[in-house]
Amino acid sequence: MQDIEALWADFARPIVTADDYLGSLRGRRMNVYFMGERVPEPVDHPVIRPSINAMAETYRLATERPELASAKTEIGGCQTNRFLHVPASADDLVTKHEMQRELGRRTGTCFQRCVGLDAISTCHSVTFDVDAKKPGAGYHERFLAFLKRAQRANIVIGGAMTDPKGDRSKPPHQQADVDMFLHVVRRDDKGLYVSGAKMHQTGAVNSHWLIFMPTMRMTEADRDFAVVGAVRVDAPGLTYVVGRQTNDTRVVDGGALDAGNAQFAGQEALIVFDNVFVPHEHVFLDGEWEYATTLVERFTTYHRSSYVCKTGLGDVLIGAAAAAAENNGVEAASHIKDKLVEMTHLNETIYSSCMAAAYRSTATKSGAYINDEMLSNVAKHNVTRFPFEISRLAQDIAGGLVVTMPSEKDLQNNEIGPLIRKFLQGRDGVDTVDRMRILRLIENMTIGRNAVGYLTESLHGAGSPQAQRIQIARSMKIEDKKARARKLAGVAASPPKT
Ligand code: SF4
Ligand code: FE
Repeated sequence: MQDIEALWADFARPIVTADDYLGSLRGRRMNVYFMGERVPEPVDHPVIRPSINAMAETYRLATERPELASAKTEIGGCQTNRFLHVPASADDLVTKHEMQRELGRRTGTCFQRCVGLDAISTCHSVTFDVDAKKPGAGYHERFLAFLKRAQRANIVIGGAMTDPKGDRSKPPHQQADVDMFLHVVRRDDKGLYVSGAKMHQTGAVNSHWLIFMPTMRMTEADRDFAVVGAVRVDAPGLTYVVGRQTNDTRVVDGGALDAGNAQFAGQEALIVFDNVFVPHEHVFLDGEWEYATTLVERFTTYHRSSYVCKTGLGDVLIGAAAAAAENNGVEAASHIKDKLVEMTHLNETIYSSCMAAAYRSTATKSGAYINDEMLSNVAKHNVTRFPFEISRLAQDIAGGLVVTMPSEKDLQNNEIGPLIRKFLQGRDGVDTVDRMRILRLIENMTIGRNAVGYLTESLHGAGSPQAQRIQIARSMKIEDKKARARKLAGVAASPPKT
């Protein structure tokens, strides 16, 4: 137990404000790489910092609007950030989604904290169910003890799920390289050691602890891959390689204009686990291969609705398109108005499916509420498509200048700066540089750094489109639908099965 206390010693005082959060990230000894170089202090790295700023907004919102972004938790017996609160009612999920939309609006990017919440919500019910089948396993109790500490310390938990997967046609135990799925290397009387990697891990470097989970269904032969646990992000044996994002180095080119959104960005990293020790107290499932499918399905049900975040980004992009039209003097044109209506319709369609999935949530046996599975899959499937159309319409309204505009440095040049101000002007009374700022924001969200979150992450995060179609096919009750059709049409019998 002494060792566990030592692991939590750095979190004795709760992190409350955005500044507390920034301070909590400083001075950690993490093994982080970006662009081929070790990053000694990610907080001060100009390319990484915008992603930290976005995460910090989750703390700022909780202090500014506690009713939205914090919650009273029975587990921790305290007020905690909503990203640490296991939903205990449909209202909790509704408020969670409102919070996510608001954070999307504030940052215009991925604020990275939802994976951790969806991981703890999943672990709450799955550990409870496993313990009910295997009395004495103690998973749920250990998980609650961990969560209680996390809630009281008000930390960021990152969720680590996606394995590299290697040859996709083979299960974990048949991979030529065993590290293609995170697995237990050995066990001793204090805990276990894991090796492997997790890909595309959102906000990993900006978290305090990580919960790792299996990424897909398992068989008995995959027992050592069916492991769930928590580690500090600076645990020995962990290495992070931060992903390259489109135009990410524009923030170091001088000035803030070219970045489009210099303040906020998302973050994904490859995390390599090399013999990382996980004390018994932080092992939440070990060898429970029969539950891997349940765990993945519950996690994706939560996480697919979490993509309501993109409606907040949609709000920003629709606003940017409308502002661009205004700057050009075309805001009254009927086709512009119609495009803005179309963008809004698409954005609100995403919102409505996510919110419906929250309102139609149900209680699991542990008491944790979970979104409606079908509606959550429909919601995420909408997210794989509509932001692309919204982006197309934003670019349509904005015009080609989004991709042909000179740089901020040209603007500052004594010779050509005045020419740019003259020839890039729009409507009377609109500052040319302000017009450029709006166009750069549209570039940032549709083909620049934050298109990573708004577009490609919308496509593949929480499962690629086909994963949702599989779930929708499983749950669509086609036999029931056929029976209803036949009954109304007066068809007495079903044809024989082929
Ligand atoms: Fe949250 Fe959205 Fe980022 Fe996923 S993509 S972590 S749901 S903000
Ligand atoms: Fe995601």
